[in-house]
Amino acid sequence: MRAGLPAYTRRVKSQDLLERYRDLLADAGERFAISLGEGGTPLVHARRLGDEMGLRSLHLKFEGMNPTGSFKDRGMVLAVNRAVSAGARAVVCASTGNTSASAAAYAAAAGLPCHVILPAGRVARGKLAQALAAGARLVMIDGNFDEALTAVRRLGEEGAAVVVNSINPHRLAGQQTGAWEVVDTLGRAPHALALPVGNAGNITAYWRGFRRYAEEGRLTADELPRMLGFQAEGAAPIVLGRPVESPETVATAIRIGNPASWVGATTARDESGGVIETVTDEEILDTQRMIIQLEGVFCEPASAAAVAGVRRLAAERRIGPDEVVVCVLTGHGLKDPDAVQADEGTLTPIPPELGAIREAMEL
Ligand SMILES: *Cc1c(COP(=O)(O)O)cnc(C)c1O
Repeated sequence: MRAGLPAYTRRVKSQDLLERYRDLLADAGERFAISLGEGGTPLVHARRLGDEMGLRSLHLKFEGMNPTGSFKDRGMVLAVNRAVSAGARAVVCASTGNTSASAAAYAAAAGLPCHVILPAGRVARGKLAQALAAGARLVMIDGNFDEALTAVRRLGEEGAAVVVNSINPHRLAGQQTGAWEVVDTLGRAPHALALPVGNAGNITAYWRGFRRYAEEGRLTADELPRMLGFQAEGAAPIVLGRPVESPETVATAIRIGNPASWVGATTARDESGGVIETVTDEEILDTQRMIIQLEGVFCEPASAAAVAGVRRLAAERRIGPDEVVVCVLTGHGLKDPDAVQADEGTLTPIPPELGAIREAMEL
């Protein structure tokens, strides 16, 4: 802490994310006024899930444990701190949900208005609740995410507000911390790192993060992981090699037809010797259920896409049983309660008697 600042102006503790990676992220003498305790998320060794998939060293980086429940907080904390330093009057974003939840929270902490342009329908309930609760000003358009982002770019150019979508370079800079934490926690880089691909900012940022660690001598070039990206079958522009006009998937966080960081994603794939492939909605939902039922970790559907993809590659022997594999679980399952099928149907009350309860429990 620098001398001369009243303590209350500074909410950042020394263990907070931007302070931990200050040497790689901050300008000389830069002060970060805002933190919600982002980063430092668990890396869970998924033994039961790994057994099921034939992988001995499968790990889940559970980004649902960030303050607003998704990895978006890693970049948002840097973007909003820098917007404040630059004298912004407001922030604006287009969002399938998690970006708005994150932007709304950090803007609230900074005392800035937050505007959110949402595509009509199909935004997960939990995410909408977060943005509303934080006092964000929501505008819903009768269009898709890509159209919302086009409008936001314009508003940014006009100077009405600072854009905090991942086209803001501070977002991707901050998201590199995910890669750094994986290496710091494992004590090495994994052989492969898997994540869902929507607007493709995160796969771009992770690859940059690993490359940066190599440049810093914290990894050698031959230790860099293969980057494995997965899109939903109905929203797979990068796999198809062309934009998708009406993307459709149950995994709303990756329901994007024309990714802003397209080139970043293909660069990560090609430089790392990785792949970007598709998974079906059925595989996504089935894998989401497996992750919570075998590991106790509840992620949202988009996050399960990465694990579904790894499951397929392991079954096809394109990942070896002894490889160290990390799947990034990008968001929390509580974000999207409607995606979980109530297979059990509705519960009907029974008399409060032990006999009846035993019978119902099939004991
Ligand atoms: C934003 C998001 C994604 C997609 O990340 P991109 O950087 O847009 O590729 C995946 N999962 C969740 C939960 C997200 O919030």
